[in-house]
Amino acid sequence: MPPLIYWFRKDLRLTDAPALAHAMHLAQRDGQPLLPVFCHAPPSTTRWGFARVGPHRQRYERATLDDLAANLQACGSRLLELAGPAATTLQALCQTVGASHIVCEDIAAPEEQAEVAALRAAGLTVQTLWQSSLLAPEQLPFAAGDLPDVFTRFRQQLEKAAVTPPAPLPQPTTLPAPPRLETPAWQLFYKQYQASTLIHQGPTAIKNGVIEARSSYPYHLPDWAGGESAALAHLRRYLANQQPHSYKATRNQLSGTGFSSKFSPWLACGALSARTVYAELKAFEAEWGANEGSNWLWFELLWRDYFRLLHHKYGVRLYHAQGLRGAQTAQAGAGVGAGVGTAWRPHNPPPPRATTAGSPELARWCAGRTGTPLVDAAMRELRASGYLSNRLRQVVASFWLFELGGDWRAGAAWFESQLVDHDVYSNTGNWLYIAGLGTDPRGGRLFDVAKQSREHDPEGSYQRLWLAD
Ligand SMILES: Cc1cc2nc3c(=O)[nH]c(=O)nc-3n(C[C@H](O)[C@H](O)[C@H](O)COP(=O)(O)OP(=O)(O)OC[C@H]3O[C@@H](n4cnc5c(N)ncnc54)[C@H](O)[C@@H]3O)c2cc1C
Repeated sequence: MPPLIYWFRKDLRLTDAPALAHAMHLAQRDGQPLLPVFCHAPPSTTRWGFARVGPHRQRYERATLDDLAANLQACGSRLLELAGPAATTLQALCQTVGASHIVCEDIAAPEEQAEVAALRAAGLTVQTLWQSSLLAPEQLPFAAGDLPDVFTRFRQQLEKAAVTPPAPLPQPTTLPAPPRLETPAWQLFYKQYQASTLIHQGPTAIKNGVIEARSSYPYHLPDWAGGESAALAHLRRYLANQQPHSYKATRNQLSGTGFSSKFSPWLACGALSARTVYAELKAFEAEWGANEGSNWLWFELLWRDYFRLLHHKYGVRLYHAQGLRGAQTAQAGAGVGAGVGTAWRPHNPPPPRATTAGSPELARWCAGRTGTPLVDAAMRELRASGYLSNRLRQVVASFWLFELGGDWRAGAAWFESQLVDHDVYSNTGNWLYIAGLGTDPRGGRLFDVAKQSREHDPEGSYQRLWLAD
């Protein structure tokens, strides 16, 4: 019997995994072996001249996959890690093992959609299930194409309709057995596609394997490590310490492990599901009471959903240099263009000088050598640790766009390269939002760096911490 392939993408977990549960159901129903696979994309360099996946994300992903492999093994299964572009690698795998059916999660971003389209074009059956948002699209009180262009209206409509996320699925205790793979054709295939567990070092060296002790997300420590096991333990600890109650008061701080939830790295690779977070948060509120802080976490998780739904509505149009300018409905489009103009053009004519690979502005911004202390401290933290607070992401993004006249896509690409929590929807959505090139009619967000320093780092302690090198 040929195996059914389960292709892990950005859903590296067993708990609350509807697509995996569907594959398990099909395999059990048809008496098929289930082959769980992960494909490592070959290392690549962006058009801006740096590695697409930097060393922090490589290390974090390695830890996540090790945890997934151990959890699969405990359930009687085995993770197959392959090296190569997903579309061609999975085609070759299916040919070798005689499979024709792949199940995976749906990802609404252009490159990920193209992967699925290529597999289908090769004659394979690919069943995709949407699962990464808090709310299921079919629960929404509007069609995907009618998503409000302003976040607050989106949130208000949900609250009015009293929509709540589906309950998370439990963690399975067993999985259908994997196939026995021992034919000569398999040996040949595996020789060619076997993934190395080596980390490709990017331009940022991590000294002696020790990651920054100053990090706000110290993923080198077991409590913060990649993988579902650490994610669930962190969620329990966060709630046991009653941190949701102080979330609103602390969320704009710049440094430290406790000022915000730090759920994002686990959410981004799918080691943790947003529905699990929500269900646990509601149980916490039932026991300890809801307050402004715990409620604010819900708002933030809704932002995460909003940027996912924007991809459903606008797709590849989000990725233009000019974002959605001109791509929207006439009504919203007028607002977007007008807002950006009044927000920043008077101060910063936008010469496209910082937009090419190897431009000195881009190199200085990435290295934290712009001469503006708060920006430089933040960019050094990002590069050294793979994490940055939300407030500082906003400040450095605004600086890149409006002070240096940079292309939002270059800034977003550097974040993608560096952040352990890189998430295609949230990264693209936030960059477009700050650039004023997304849907929000109020235009771009210019952050006054001097004011941000006074308000959020009045003693200069954050700047001293990261400018000391
Ligand atoms: C330019 C820019 C790029 C960003 N890129 C990413 C990215 O690649 N991946 C990513 O997960 N977040 C991104 N964010 C959003 C936000 O900065 C991070 O989600 C947050 O800092 C992660 O830390 P936390 O988990 O402690 O957040 P918390 O403040 O504890 O928030 C809880 C959760 O809510 C969600 N959330 C919070 N703020 C946002 C937001 N603005 N947009 C979407 N979801 C949000 C996240 O899932 C987060 O884990 C970006 C923000 C900016 C301004």
